[in-house]
Amino acid sequence: MNKDLHLFNELVEFLISEEQNHPVASPINTNELYQTLDLNLNDNPTIDDSFKNTLKAIIKSTPKTASTSFFNQLFGGRISKATLGDLLAVMLNNSMYTYKVAGPQVGIEKTILKKICSMIGYPETADGTFAPGGSMSNHMAVLMARDNYNPSVRNEGVSTKMTLYTSDVSHYSIAKNASFIGVGRDQVRAIKTNEKGEMLAHDLDHQIIKDIELGYQPFFVNATAGTTVLGAFDNIESISNVCKKHNLWLHLDGAYCGSVIFSNEYKHLVKGIEHTNSFSVNAHKMLGTPLSCSIIVTRDKKHLYESFSNEAEYLYQTSDDGFNLGKTSLQCGRRNDALKLWTLWKSVGTTGLESIVNHQFKLAEIARHYIKNNPDYTLYSFDDSISVCFNYKDIPANTLCTALYENAQLMVGFGNFRGQEFVRMVTINSSLQEDDIHNFFKTLESFAISTDF
Ligand SMILES: *Cc1c(COP(=O)(O)O)cnc(C)c1O
Repeated sequence: MNKDLHLFNELVEFLISEEQNHPVASPINTNELYQTLDLNLNDNPTIDDSFKNTLKAIIKSTPKTASTSFFNQLFGGRISKATLGDLLAVMLNNSMYTYKVAGPQVGIEKTILKKICSMIGYPETADGTFAPGGSMSNHMAVLMARDNYNPSVRNEGVSTKMTLYTSDVSHYSIAKNASFIGVGRDQVRAIKTNEKGEMLAHDLDHQIIKDIELGYQPFFVNATAGTTVLGAFDNIESISNVCKKHNLWLHLDGAYCGSVIFSNEYKHLVKGIEHTNSFSVNAHKMLGTPLSCSIIVTRDKKHLYESFSNEAEYLYQTSDDGFNLGKTSLQCGRRNDALKLWTLWKSVGTTGLESIVNHQFKLAEIARHYIKNNPDYTLYSFDDSISVCFNYKDIPANTLCTALYENAQLMVGFGNFRGQEFVRMVTINSSLQEDDIHNFFKTLESFAISTDF
């Protein structure tokens, strides 16, 4: 092991120097990938220098998500105290299903969950778990809502036309999850949004009433805290009023920007969060932990037990179920995603998490300010968002982003809203500074000038 730890250190130093010297790795064309890198698995071992050099070549060509040139969706940067926790989790290699196997790591996970539940104003009965990503957190939410609406579905399957509601700009995992839970993609109603991409509560109400009249069974509404493209926040209070009127489960998908709960300055964006039935947040997005670190909490832990527990004598051999987390999780064996968030949180405190969140909004403001004061740019996104959407001159966003990537200049994506395509710069890397934002624009501009679009 010691030998490999030395090798690990050497490779990490190489990675960090590559990040600095070549912040955007030169991409390899997919049809040349297997000729360019030695990815083959052979009958004979690859050892020592040959092994090391192969790894270095792979590292060199792998996209650098922690570099100052990475503005792609929707994560980035490296916060070392969180990375430290994840490295420890790999070395410890516990499985989070039982206290017997994970010991105090269970307490670490429970501490995070309890703290988040209390921060958002959920009652004492609340609890949660870690899922393998935001899509799976949303999956757990719709599943709990389904079983809450009709407990017989767990054993008998879905036999009625249940319907669910989410805005027309929400994450695609809602449609996938409708399919996974047996309700079906056709039963997802896309609710209209305003010009900022926020779901319209009156259209939601209207759709629900229409469905009830037609004999459908509405059971679930998804609101979003930070839509994937524009970073818009749905108005929870008005949506929750509609949900209460019709007695529907309200989930808040905060995968992207749910971390505003840590910021006194920005938590007003999720005002009314205490009225939701479940809430999910990805710490690997705004909090900058390594992938993946996704949390789902619900007002009453009975929903977790009712949807996810299963007796298994071969697994549960100690009695305190509150510490046997396998009874409330999607998976059986489960990696320790909690430790990296805990090491971060413990080391910087809640005020440190707040600074991380606030800084991203500040970077976005700097970017918007630059765009607004430069006539070559058009801005498409709004205040209070860390997605900065714009076009430069009349260069199509798709063409510009692809050329920047292929020429190893910048990693930035494009998106669209109401038929308008634009560059989407995401200021989610909290270790960036004002200069890095200005460098982004300088790089983009000098590249555009030197290239014939
Ligand atoms: C990223 C995102 C998800 C999905 O999270 P994954 O961890 O990528 O599965 C869900 N909803 C929103 C709003 C997101 O931005």
